[in-house]
Amino acid sequence: LSEVIRQRAWVEIDLGALTHNIKQIKGLLSPKTGLMAVVKADAYGHGAIKVAQTALKAGASWLAIATLGEGIELREAGITAPILILGAINTPQEIEAIVHWQLQPTLCNPQQALIFSETLSELGENLSVHLKLDTGMSRLGTPWEQATEFVKLVQQLPHLNIASIYSHFATADDPDPTIMRLQHQRFETAIANLKTQGIQPPYLHLANSAATLTDPSLHYDLVRVGLAIYGLYPSPHLRSEVSLKSVLQVKTKITQIKTIPPGTGVSYGHKFISDNLMKIAVVGIGYADGVPRNLSNRMEVLIRGQRVRQIGAITMDQLMLDVTNIRHLQVGEVVTIIGKDGTEEITADDWANNLGTISWEILCGFKHRLPRVSV
Ligand code: PLP
Repeated sequence: LSEVIRQRAWVEIDLGALTHNIKQIKGLLSPKTGLMAVVKADAYGHGAIKVAQTALKAGASWLAIATLGEGIELREAGITAPILILGAINTPQEIEAIVHWQLQPTLCNPQQALIFSETLSELGENLSVHLKLDTGMSRLGTPWEQATEFVKLVQQLPHLNIASIYSHFATADDPDPTIMRLQHQRFETAIANLKTQGIQPPYLHLANSAATLTDPSLHYDLVRVGLAIYGLYPSPHLRSEVSLKSVLQVKTKITQIKTIPPGTGVSYGHKFISDNLMKIAVVGIGYADGVPRNLSNRMEVLIRGQRVRQIGAITMDQLMLDVTNIRHLQVGEVVTIIGKDGTEEITADDWANNLGTISWEILCGFKHRLPRVSV
């Protein structure tokens, strides 16, 4: 089957590299700090079930996802590890499903806590919940200055057990640490205020990949690591902290080869016109697979360890390459879109830099249409 799957275009997932990355990251943590593998968005496009299973085997003790559906997918696959839902949950129907699937929600404000408590009392169930503080991301969470009131309220509500208090950094990947330090200080102040009120803080967590690589004082009881487990660095300045291996490669095959005379337009809009007699190859991957159309005429791929330029508009299912300099090229030869071939490598960071975006978005952009093959 895997030979049939590898006919047109596919994503190769190196679970050994994932294990390596998790062990490297665990090596940065003290024994009291757990690793939560962030596997939302289908494990950043890598395939959530296999990534979650491998991450747990490699030493992760928690999983994090964004949506209820993502949590159910993991439970249906038989995964029993604790799973935190990072996204907001607001309806009784969702709460009932959370209880059924033994997931653990994030509570972001008092109103939400009340809905949870009421629904749980109707169901006659208790639930572990995680309280989110906003220390400067201005996304989900109660303002950090109101942490004590929020925690006291949840403590008083029946059916809710506070499993952790957490917050999220807005700029941890920035080499300038000023805002990250401010957020850290706010988190510390919120926790100190709880202690002053005689409230013993539960599990605490704050760090994403960048903060995990930056400073052990940000690790607390758990680190929530996404990007780094997939082998990418949140910022080039963090490369020296740990040695990571890319988990994902994207490959396709040559489906047709042809010669075109000078002055021939290639692809929609004829945005590329040949200067000379050229040999071009058509390959079976396009923007519906996650190769952004904005890379048209400005990306390279690898064939037989050589860099080859892409030409003309990238189309929905196919794109064209200038293979004039490759001799005896055959239909069916493998083309590396993202990944290594010989000594050359093209990374999600290269694409992100080319497009003015971040590697997170590139990884999540590879569509389900591309089968994920474990290697
Ligand atoms: N924690 C939260 C709340 C997140 O939303 C994310 C991802 O965006 C992460 C942790 C993991 O971030 P990263 O991929 O930078 O490690």
